[in-house]
Amino acid sequence: MHEVSIAEEIKNVVIKKLNENNGKKVKKIKLLIGEMTTIVPEALQFALTIVSENTPMEDCKVKIKVLKTKARCNLCYKEFFIRDNNFLCSKCKTHEIEIIQGREMIIQSVEMER
Ligand SMILES: [Zn+2]
Repeated sequence: MHEVSIAEEIKNVVIKKLNENNGKKVKKIKLLIGEMTTIVPEALQFALTIVSENTPMEDCKVKIKVLKTKARCNLCYKEFFIRDNNFLCSKCKTHEIEIIQGREMIIQSVEMER
């Protein structure tokens, strides 16, 4: 379960943010996770609960939003969502596409108590 190491990373970033802002406790964090990552939101949520124990992040709310995979065609510049693993441009059917969303793991916001 690689979610544990991801949760550890998130915790480190969040705690650093908390310290930089002289915060006391983390209340809520919002995460954005790309559909193409192999992260399972429920597993990450669970892993975060575990790694947060006995830290200022304990009992904080975690909101995870999954970002759908989005691509842009290099030929006609159409932007479209990838469905059913169909990586062809929805307009001109070329393979010349670039993934522009779906691989990221972003800490969108951190709410804290000061
Ligand atoms: Zn196209």
